[in-house]
Amino acid sequence: MASIELEKLVKDYGAFRAIKGIDLSIEDGSFVTFVGPSGCGKSTLLRMVAGLEEISGGRLKIDGKVVNDLEPRERDIAMVFQDYALYPHMSIAENIGFGLKMRGVAKAEIEKQVKEAADILQITQLLERKPGQLSGGQRQRVAMGRAIVRRPQVYLFDEPLSNLDAKLRVDMRTQIKRLHTLLKTTTIYVTHDQVEAMTLADHIVILKDGVIMQQGKPVSVYERPVSRFVGEFIGSPKMNIIESRLASEGGAAELRFYEFSLPVAGGDENGKAVEIGIRPEHLIPCAPEEALFSARIDVLEPLGSDTHAICLLGDTEITARLAPDPSYHPGQILHFTADADKIHFFDTKTGARLE
Ligand code: ATP
Repeated sequence: MASIELEKLVKDYGAFRAIKGIDLSIEDGSFVTFVGPSGCGKSTLLRMVAGLEEISGGRLKIDGKVVNDLEPRERDIAMVFQDYALYPHMSIAENIGFGLKMRGVAKAEIEKQVKEAADILQITQLLERKPGQLSGGQRQRVAMGRAIVRRPQVYLFDEPLSNLDAKLRVDMRTQIKRLHTLLKTTTIYVTHDQVEAMTLADHIVILKDGVIMQQGKPVSVYERPVSRFVGEFIGSPKMNIIESRLASEGGAAELRFYEFSLPVAGGDENGKAVEIGIRPEHLIPCAPEEALFSARIDVLEPLGSDTHAICLLGDTEITARLAPDPSYHPGQILHFTADADKIHFFDTKTGARLE
C-alpha cells in the first residue's frame, strides 16, 4: 500500500494545457474517485499516475518517492480499463495467473493466488472456461482478478464498468467496494458517473477543465457544494436552481424565501442577483400558508419507490422527489417548503457559494 502525492501537476498537449497544476494528497489505503464532465482531464490525470502520460510539470510521489520518470512497470501499480483484453485461447485461470507466470512465480504458488483471487471475486466455478464463454460482468471480474494477484501498491481504474448494463454495473460496484474493504489497497477510480463516484469513494475529487473544483468526503461535498457547478454535478436528480435577488441587506430574497444573511452584508448587496439551490429530495410538500413557493406539476415520473414531479415555477423547471401518491396529476399546484440548512445560495455571476 502507498500514499500518493500530486504536487502542482501539469499536463500540456502542445499548446493545450489539459491539467493545470493539480495538488492532491491521497492517503495510504484510501479509495479516491476522480469525476467530472467529459474532457475535464480525469483520464489524463490517472494515466499520469500510471506512467502512461509524460508529466509536463510538477511532481508525482508514490509512497514518498518521486516517480515522475519511472516506467509504468516500475511504479508497482495495477490498472483496470474499460476494455479488458483477455487472452481468448487461455482458460480463465491462465488469464488471471499469466502475469505471475511471466514473472517466473512457481506453479503451485500461482494456483494458490489464482484461487484466492477467484474466491474473492466469486468466479471459482468459471476458472476452467475460456473468456468467450463468459458474460461481460464475469469477464470484468477476471480482469480484476489479474490485477488482484499482482498485489500492487496501488490500483487504478479507468471507467471499468462503462461497458456493462445498468444492473451489472451496480453489482460490480458493490464487488469493487467489497474488494477494497478486504484488501485496503490505495485505489484511484475514474468515472463520469457521479453515483459511482459518490458510492465508492472515501474521498471524491471533482474536476473541470483540468482544475479541481472541490474535493472531500462524498457526503460533505453533497451537503456543502462550494459552487453551483458542484451542486448540480453531484446528486440525482440534479439540484434545482432558482434565480433570485437579495431584496435588502441580510433580508429576504424574492419568492418568499427564508430570511438569510450574507457575510459581506453591505448596502450595495441590495438587488444582487443570487441563485438558490435546493435538491429535489429536500423539497417538502406543505400547506399553502407554509409554502416558500408554489409550482405547477408538468410531468410526473413514478419510480415505484418515489415519484419525481417536474414542476414549473414561472419558466423555471423544478424537480421534486416525492413519496408516491396516486392523487398527483399534471396541472396540479404543489406548495413547497424546505429546511433552512438545505437551501444553498450561489453568486449568479461567479457561481460561488455565498456564506
Ligand atoms: P472523458 O470522460 O471524455 O474520457 P476525460 O475527463 O477523461 O474525458 P481526458 O481524456 O483526460 O478527459 O482529456 C482531457 C483533455 O485533454 C481533453 O480536452 C482532451 O481533448 C485533451 N487530450 C487528451 N488526450 C490528448 C492528446 N493525446 N492530445 C491532445 N489533447 C488531448
